[in-house]
Amino acid sequence: MKSVKEADVSGKRIVVRCDFDVPVKNGQIEDETRINNSLPTLQYLLGKGGKLFLISKMGRPKFRDPSLSLKVVIENVSQKLGKEVVFKEDLNKARLEDIVLLENLRFWPEEEKGDLEFSKKLASFGDLYVNECFATSHRSDASFVGVPKYLQSFAGLNLVREVTELRKILNDPERPLISIIGGAKLETKLPAINNLAKISEKVLVGGRLMFEVGGQVLPQNVVVAPDDIDQKDIGSKSIRSFENIIKSARTIVWNGPMGVFEEEAYLKGSQEVAKAVSESKAYKVVGGGDTIAVLEKLGLLAKMDYVSTGGGAMLEFLAGKKLPGLVALRYYD
Ligand code: ADP
Ligand code: MG
Repeated sequence: MKSVKEADVSGKRIVVRCDFDVPVKNGQIEDETRINNSLPTLQYLLGKGGKLFLISKMGRPKFRDPSLSLKVVIENVSQKLGKEVVFKEDLNKARLEDIVLLENLRFWPEEEKGDLEFSKKLASFGDLYVNECFATSHRSDASFVGVPKYLQSFAGLNLVREVTELRKILNDPERPLISIIGGAKLETKLPAINNLAKISEKVLVGGRLMFEVGGQVLPQNVVVAPDDIDQKDIGSKSIRSFENIIKSARTIVWNGPMGVFEEEAYLKGSQEVAKAVSESKAYKVVGGGDTIAVLEKLGLLAKMDYVSTGGGAMLEFLAGKKLPGLVALRYYD
């Protein structure tokens, strides 16, 4: 895998797979973190005399849903880069502008299907390709796996950093390594629980997952929260048990809140676990949109040693699975 720093950028058009999938409410961006994460790479490319063709998805539209148009980020991105951003709604040939932003990739059903004709079309807008979206690199969408088949490909600065940090945890963590998994998405998290159990001394399970794993045969070192409050948070017995285990850790990986933290009454489990993690001397790695949100809400995000932009992608990487987006960049070669 080559870093964007190794690319010969001057005078080239670069297709950059960004992560502009920011939360939007009433037409306003609620959290700009993801846009900010792409900036160093975009500024670097512009500084080297490159022209940018920016692509990203937003949300999960089932059709050309105007409420999920990427138009909403134009002004923000343009302001941050100090240059005009030209918006493009179709895939017709276009004039050579300094910065073009394509409409939400998921408005084309071909994106999720990994369609090669669509990939080729996207590739036709550039001379080089850069992936600066670690958080979705565990998917096989056209913008990750297809475009690199047609263009020389590089990893963005933030993606390089993600992989460097997470590789340390995967290969040589200080032990004991304790993994904490919560939140909701069972389909993605059940395999993660099983895989993390292989590399961790213990895996603690809270969130809605604690009910969903019922009936599953789990590895012996998986500790499912023993009690709950209204099925919306872990109970006091669980908190005490988790605190004790967290105290023993030298490395901690955490993805997924312990309860419905959006409701004050069910914040406690996440709060107490967050406190225990913060007070631990272990190397602390967290990831996932809601996990970051709850730590921010509690004012404890700065206590973490590394904050990954990826939830699902982080778990799959740490489980030792090959992420399709990284395979396309030849990371595993
Ligand atoms: P992340 O974004 O950090 O990867 P997830 O998206 O998997 O985390 O999970 C976060 C969501 O899980 C939150 O919206 C939270 O309300 C929900 N959640 C956590 N515990 C429960 C529960 N016991 N019942 C229902 N929803 C839960
Ligand atoms: Mg989430």
